[in-house]
Amino acid sequence: MSLFDKRMSKEKKASLDLAESSRQEEWECPSFAARIFQGALEWDLVSPFPEQTAEDKAAGDEFIKKLEVFLKKNLDPDKVDETREIPAEVIKGLADLGAFAIKIPEEYGGLGLSQMNYNRAIHLLGSYCGSTAALLSAHQSIGVPQPLLDFGTEEQKKKFLPRFAEGAISAFALTEPEVGSDPRKMKTMAIPSEDGSHYILNGEKLWCTNGNVADLIVVMAQTPPKVIKGKERTQISAFVVDTKSPGFEVTYRCKFMGLNAIQNGLIKFTDVKVPKENLILGEGEGLKLAFVTLNTGRLTLPAAVGGMCKWALRVARKWANKRQQWGCVIGEHESISSKLSYMAATTFAMDAMTQLVSHMAHAQKCDVRQKKCDIRLEAAMAKLFCTDASWEIIDHAVQIRGGRGYETGPSLTGRGKDGAPLERAMRDSRVNTILEGSSEIMHLFIAREALDFHLQKMKSILDPKVPVMKKLRLVISAGFAYALWYPKLWVPCLGLGGHVSSKRLRRHVKFIKKASKRLAREIFHKMMIYQKKLVSRQNTLNRFVDVGLELFAMAAACSYADSLNKKDGKDKNSVDLADLFCQQAEDRIKKHFKDVHHNYDKTSKAVAKKLLADEYEWLENDIIK
Ligand SMILES: Cc1cc2nc3c(=O)[nH]c(=O)nc-3n(C[C@H](O)[C@H](O)[C@H](O)COP(=O)(O)OP(=O)(O)OC[C@H]3O[C@@H](n4cnc5c(N)ncnc54)[C@H](O)[C@@H]3O)c2cc1C
Repeated sequence: MSLFDKRMSKEKKASLDLAESSRQEEWECPSFAARIFQGALEWDLVSPFPEQTAEDKAAGDEFIKKLEVFLKKNLDPDKVDETREIPAEVIKGLADLGAFAIKIPEEYGGLGLSQMNYNRAIHLLGSYCGSTAALLSAHQSIGVPQPLLDFGTEEQKKKFLPRFAEGAISAFALTEPEVGSDPRKMKTMAIPSEDGSHYILNGEKLWCTNGNVADLIVVMAQTPPKVIKGKERTQISAFVVDTKSPGFEVTYRCKFMGLNAIQNGLIKFTDVKVPKENLILGEGEGLKLAFVTLNTGRLTLPAAVGGMCKWALRVARKWANKRQQWGCVIGEHESISSKLSYMAATTFAMDAMTQLVSHMAHAQKCDVRQKKCDIRLEAAMAKLFCTDASWEIIDHAVQIRGGRGYETGPSLTGRGKDGAPLERAMRDSRVNTILEGSSEIMHLFIAREALDFHLQKMKSILDPKVPVMKKLRLVISAGFAYALWYPKLWVPCLGLGGHVSSKRLRRHVKFIKKASKRLAREIFHKMMIYQKKLVSRQNTLNRFVDVGLELFAMAAACSYADSLNKKDGKDKNSVDLADLFCQQAEDRIKKHFKDVHHNYDKTSKAVAKKLLADEYEWLENDIIK
């Protein structure tokens, strides 16, 4: 609690307190992104760019080929969109392929494929049918398999995992009508029975993807509070709930702007008996479980949107080469060509980031030569960067297709034209910046983890309960640490900052090194100025996060292009893409740095305050209310 600004409301402090107590505190392995925020470029954590082993790739190739053949033959995404249903025989066919047990080890009946191969499968689906990608990814990235693989007991794994190999569907239920990004007000309760053999579950969950058709759901619920260090603490726990249990019901199916076929609505638990063996990890560990599960779970969205962006790029490229207006193909008009090159360069960076973090996630769990990294920041950054960028990319693709971008796929095919359903892709992709951590919450999460380096040093110093003498010792030791660290941020970057083969890329790697030092300095200065109040200055924190995000994306793009460049053949032009991406990212970074000092945050805040106080209601005139 000691880190929170005094002016914060009690409610806000309580929410932050819960999030803080569920945070994974330890950093057992290094994090490339965390070091960027501290002013250090640890190039060897991202280079040489990791590659799949031949054996792993071959295993993935075989499954992905089968999946592609199956999808092309059996699944019509426009029909799925129109009917709001994925046909039962398609779901059965996917189950027969093992698509509901991609990462589940063979000993439990699954395919036993790696994180990279799983992501490749979702990437393929993302390029074809958003609803089917959501079905498989909600099931495997956040649904029952992932938390059980990470935290389940052997008994739990033996009991539940083989069911997924047979096609059982799962879901993850955290959200409630009053619980969106902030889980503190969770009303779903799991109360232990008198004999301790089970929990009684009561409550309602909203928008749980697959929830309406799932066989098993990971449900987050409040268990009785515990007194920890003299204070009553809310306990959120995670349970595997069998939807065949008496008292479980689906009360409503929601319809959305896109992802029309997802089975998602309101589900209700009335005195549902959940065996105590179905508690995962332990009472009060539910949010931590959700956070850690999401570290790898969050990589699925970047993979899915990466597939969609590559498809959109292909549609836009072909159209820009074919459509003639004003005497030439539209791709020759600079306004269109710059959109195309932005799309290509950004898609390349997204791909680099997703592959890099997927390899890091794989290395974390397996015995491979690559260094083990803490990926909490990198996965969150990949989610934030890729979902935000993909929205811009799809918007550009729609613009390039003009009226045909706005027309639906079935309408285009209905008049004998190539469908290229960008309209559906746009609807399907909009939710990606909202779910699995909205972009705003991802900024806060990344800022919290990025500041941990400082907060760890300051926490006890700022805590009024720590005795003065201890504080003094802490101040001295923090002073020493900063005295060694801070001057390094001013040392000019003389080295190349990484062994990259291309001169053009070397320049960018040098920029990353220099800019990360500036980022660390700026963060430190603002921390000194605002202290606890910095937590409430979201715009300032967001700018820092966005700089870190761009630097990480640049590093991934440079390392990936460097590895492709070293190989022979067609991949050599990857340097052009990384070079363009980095030039554009550098521009954005310079703007963020400038905005840290020169901005209109005050005016904007004042207008918003008046707006929320209804003072500008007059502006909403002449409309149908
Ligand atoms: C299609 C779909 C599928 C979903 N699937 C699942 C699922 O499988 N399981 C599940 O549990 N949930 C699921 N959700 C719920 C999803 O995770 C939530 O929508 C998300 O957590 C945001 O919650 P909310 O919509 O209530 O928004 P709110 O939390 O009410 O937020 C509204 C807006 O305020 C912003 N905001 C909130 N707090 C802050 C803050 N402190 N600072 C700055 N900005 C803030 C948010 O970013 C957002 O822009 C799904 C939702 C949809 C639409």
